[in-house]
Amino acid sequence: MQTKKQSFIEAITNTAVGFGISYASTFLIFPMVGMHTSAKTNFIITVYFTIISIIRSYVIRRWFNKKTKLVTYPNNEPFLLYCFECEIDMPVTEKDGYMSCSNCGLIHR
Ligand SMILES: [Zn+2]
Repeated sequence: MQTKKQSFIEAITNTAVGFGISYASTFLIFPMVGMHTSAKTNFIITVYFTIISIIRSYVIRRWFNKKTKLVTYPNNEPFLLYCFECEIDMPVTEKDGYMSCSNCGLIHR
């Protein structure tokens, strides 16, 4: 399971790499569809879609997080089970009477 810092670094890297690929792609796709733009215009369009993408990712991630509630003790401490896939004690989620690893999804039977 990732720490919050690792998740943040991954998100920044993902966004930076995505921005670079998208910006480079604008010089290919725009002329192909008959749009003749400047590098500055391509940059502004890429910034716009990058912001849209960040908002979309955030909303979808929060939505999925809300749907997967961790199993907790009455004191709200997460209930841990050893996961044979992750090879470490992991918090679990519960669905349809089965508990599964919150990281890899392995079902504990
Ligand atoms: Zn696991």
